[in-house]
Amino acid sequence: MNSDLEIIRHTTAHILANAVQNLYPQAKIAIGPIINDGFYYDFFIPEVNLSPQDFEKIEAEMKKIIEKRYKIIAKEISDPDKQIKDFLVSGEKFKAELLEKYKDQNPTLFAFIDENGKEIWSDLCKGPHLRNTGEVKAFKLLSVSGAYWHGDEKAESLQRIYGTAWKNKTELAEYLQKLEEAEKRDHRKLSKQHELFSIHEEAGPGLIHWHPKLAFLRNRVENFWKDLHEDNGYQLVYSPHIARAKLWDISGHSQFYSENMFKLAPIDEQEYVLKPMNCPFHILIFNSTLHSYRELPIRIAEMGTVYRFERSGVLHGLPRVRGFTQDDAHVFCTETQLVSEVCSIIDLINIIYSKFDLTYSVELSTRPEERIGDNSIWDMAETALKAALENKNIAYEINEGDGAFYGPKIDFKLKDAIGRQWQGATIQVDFNLPERFDLTYRDSDGSEKRPVMLHRAIFGSLERFTALLIEHYAAAFPFWLCETQIMILPIADRHNEYCEKLYTELKSKKIKCKIDSRGEKINAKIRDAQISQTPYMLIVGDKEMGENKIAVRERRKGDLGTMTLDEFLVEIKEQDL
Ligand SMILES: [Zn+2]
Ligand SMILES: [Zn+2]
Repeated sequence: MNSDLEIIRHTTAHILANAVQNLYPQAKIAIGPIINDGFYYDFFIPEVNLSPQDFEKIEAEMKKIIEKRYKIIAKEISDPDKQIKDFLVSGEKFKAELLEKYKDQNPTLFAFIDENGKEIWSDLCKGPHLRNTGEVKAFKLLSVSGAYWHGDEKAESLQRIYGTAWKNKTELAEYLQKLEEAEKRDHRKLSKQHELFSIHEEAGPGLIHWHPKLAFLRNRVENFWKDLHEDNGYQLVYSPHIARAKLWDISGHSQFYSENMFKLAPIDEQEYVLKPMNCPFHILIFNSTLHSYRELPIRIAEMGTVYRFERSGVLHGLPRVRGFTQDDAHVFCTETQLVSEVCSIIDLINIIYSKFDLTYSVELSTRPEERIGDNSIWDMAETALKAALENKNIAYEINEGDGAFYGPKIDFKLKDAIGRQWQGATIQVDFNLPERFDLTYRDSDGSEKRPVMLHRAIFGSLERFTALLIEHYAAAFPFWLCETQIMILPIADRHNEYCEKLYTELKSKKIKCKIDSRGEKINAKIRDAQISQTPYMLIVGDKEMGENKIAVRERRKGDLGTMTLDEFLVEIKEQDL
């Protein structure tokens, strides 16, 4: 089951634990699992606050352990109760608790043994490990953060050291370079450089303020989305931001989602809740008239802003927030329309993602153990989702049993410019809400039927998708998403009037441009436009003005030479406006 890399990383976590206990004898060890690309280990260290400054010392200690090439051997625990006592005597209460839990499962200790056969250090673990510590060839400690035993805020505070380990130094160097690139692209960092968004203590955590540049981008994205949906048979709606608690009782959210819902003070003695989802509103719209089979499918879409309580500890930049906008839509159709509806959603997904140069992988999640609806309806829905994916020639993986209790779903995982995965679109079949809201349509034979309901979002959360765009493009957004597409740069004041004329001309063609008429040197103006990733700079001096031309610079290609405005317009004709 365990890959070579997993065994390397797992063994390195033990070496880290041994090193920390050598350096800080009061340190007690908790758990040290492997994670994506690395591992961590949790420590309880009284009176020590680890920081990245300590990593050099800890890494040096780890290297010593590696150089000693300690053999790693398994030792069966024949008397778990005695071992638990030993753990408690040495203060290893976390290990004692773990062993208590696993004592009936043939627990083992793994020990580091030196060349004389002496035991140097041991840890409770079931393996597997490398044969000796010397087989660890390339590792690095990355960060340290707070953690809690069992993740429980009321339990002991622990310190978690994250690290990575690879087969060799080349692989490690490549990984570290990728990390560095990711750090440069961090949307929170780029937001500060480019004034994109802010979060304010006065307004509350997890609530995003979109600044003009990013708001412009969002407007462009939303308009693109709205036009596309109108063209593809969706009806756009708006729904309220609050609703009576009663609505969420009907939908069932009060029972299984209440921890995430913001409850409002009673209004007219009625309980109200800030909406965590858009679905019930779209259902009310659907349900407010009688529907014949001839009208189906009905596709209701909205850029719907929802509010969900997330603990402050998990809030993070744009992707993890308390208020966000979903590009939400609900499709009501007949069973026989299901395949073609899912196919047309996939078509939309392809159009939208290719617009942003994003590729994806797909997962299909099927019926879980605990579920509503009988097997025949699950068979129908799972078969339809598979048929649609196959019809569209999309490779997918199956997550057996990972569907929601109310229906199977398709998830799209996006891949950004540096190969990282982001959560993308979902298409979710729902057998639950149509029952709860008693949705019906009149079939061709006059009988009342339940429509099939699909939830789907393509961006998911606009906030998260925008974070993806910032990092994917490293804030060098494509032309159509730039608030300033062209910066006009007069070299001296005497060129301003000519620049004004250029500005008026470009503006009449719906091109977003500005004039930098500050009293700065031209090189400083070019540098600033370059730093803010303005796609084009038009430079005007005596020569250009005399010839009725402009000197054009493009942010990546640099100097494109001198040309007339008409020639420049031909140059940018290929750009989306
Ligand atoms: Zn182990
Ligand atoms: Zn929904």
